[in-house]
Amino acid sequence: MVRRVAVVGAGVSGLAATKCCLEEGLEPTCFEQSENVGGLWHYTDQAEEGRASIYRTVFTNSCKEMMCYSDFPFPDDHPNYMHNARLQHYICKYAEHFDLLQHIRFKTLVTKVKKRPDFSVTGQWEVVTRRDGKEETAIFDAVMVCSGHHVYPNLPLAEFPGIQKFKGCYFHSREYKEPEKFRGKKVLVIGLGNSGCDIAVELSTVASQVYLSSRSGSWVMSRVWDNGYPWDMLVITRFRTWLGNILPRVISDWLYVRGMNRFFKHENFGLMPLDRTSRKEPVFNDDLPSRIACGMVVMKPNVKEFRETSVLFQDGTVQDDVDVVVFATGYGYSYPFMEDDSIIKCRDNQVTLYKGILPPRLEKPTMAVIGLVQSLGPIIPTADLQCRWAVKVFQGRWLGKCWVKGYFLFMGSSLSQQQHAGRNQKSGRTTLQTDYITYMDELASAIGVKPNVLKLLLTDPQLALKVFFGPCSPYQFRLVGPGKWSGARKAILTQWDRTLQ
Ligand code: FAD
Repeated sequence: MVRRVAVVGAGVSGLAATKCCLEEGLEPTCFEQSENVGGLWHYTDQAEEGRASIYRTVFTNSCKEMMCYSDFPFPDDHPNYMHNARLQHYICKYAEHFDLLQHIRFKTLVTKVKKRPDFSVTGQWEVVTRRDGKEETAIFDAVMVCSGHHVYPNLPLAEFPGIQKFKGCYFHSREYKEPEKFRGKKVLVIGLGNSGCDIAVELSTVASQVYLSSRSGSWVMSRVWDNGYPWDMLVITRFRTWLGNILPRVISDWLYVRGMNRFFKHENFGLMPLDRTSRKEPVFNDDLPSRIACGMVVMKPNVKEFRETSVLFQDGTVQDDVDVVVFATGYGYSYPFMEDDSIIKCRDNQVTLYKGILPPRLEKPTMAVIGLVQSLGPIIPTADLQCRWAVKVFQGRWLGKCWVKGYFLFMGSSLSQQQHAGRNQKSGRTTLQTDYITYMDELASAIGVKPNVLKLLLTDPQLALKVFFGPCSPYQFRLVGPGKWSGARKAILTQWDRTLQ
């Protein structure tokens, strides 16, 4: 029987894990190396070893109604998209509200997680921690890995000939905090992800010129969608997912490209993705097109070669007197505390996890990796539902497939990991990409918390219509089943009121 659970990290995933364990009568101990909850969202002026680091002006790109914990809406007066400090405040309130802090051991680094010698029978783990230089070992029945995936920078210098000769300064976007010290400089930002775009736009307010280099382009979306409503409340709906599933691929691709181009025509801005119909995670930036239109950011193709003070691009153009290069080239995965990290990571930096959560080759399903799946959806509700599912698996109360000698009996699930592995072009790491609603529904049905729209139509038609045609907000997964929240129905019916407020 699983009773004691070690949770590694107290970011948004670790807090969800701790709460889920408590709700299911388990005994979680959450280890957090820093002094705070929030992980990535706890801003510090200096990047800290082993913890994600953000720049001062990071804002969320998921809106408050879509990215909250499913039983803890944001206060009414919060804006739809939030500065990191506000989100951090909300995360702290969540931890207080559900009395999670007493289960967290701060300033405690998990240094080793290894199987017990009798793992094949007990499924137990030995967890070694260090606090103030003192080591401690404890035995746990299960481990939830919530250590984050934006920690270890991918700096592919070998792919950039001549970088050693370059006399300017260069660094990974993880080190970037604010723009002031780049005033008057000529800056090249490499990478068209969210960080690359944000940093290029921000630097363009002070730098003499910013160049933004991209290998394969990207869809750039605005947070503000049709009629000024939040993009995700209009785009992430059950109706649209259903439509996407029944339409022939060629029509759904056409609609997708048309939708992505409604803000501006990407081709004209040098941003067009090479693979225009791949559902690669888009970038959110409301200002990039106008910065390009004003000439403050100039789009460039991939870098061919660095010289002492200049840069040669693939199209043969050369930019002279470049002072600074920011590598916004993403992150790699690392689990330095895993004695055998092939449990999570396989060959070539690939991750194979059942349902994007369970390492599939363990003799006992007593480890869960939370927050790794990437979808066009917010991480907080995803992590929340992953934890609810994982805890049921730990307890053997999950009614889905069978775990036999380290393998799931039926791997034919639509979400088997290979099917959803997508390679991140910048970092070369493989992420588990999936459609948000399909993924959430699959986890939700396995633990009996998926809303039944047809049944709702008969019993509560007003709610049914909101659930099907409206935003697939996290409250939908608290309407029925274990963990049902009495405020869920009201939260769904009033979500647009809070958005407008
Ligand atoms: P983290 O927030 O990284 O937390 C991990 C925690 O584990 C940290 O506190 C760390 O100190 C601790 N830890 C790690 N190793 C150990 C150890 N060995 N021992 C003890 N403690 C340890 N997602 C969205 O849904 N919406 C957004 O708008 C959004 N914006 C983003 C913007 C940026 C710039 C970035 C980089 C990411 C963004 N994301 C966004 C994704 C983001 O990863 C998630 O929002 C989320 O913060 C991940 O939470 P986490 O708890 O999984 O990991």
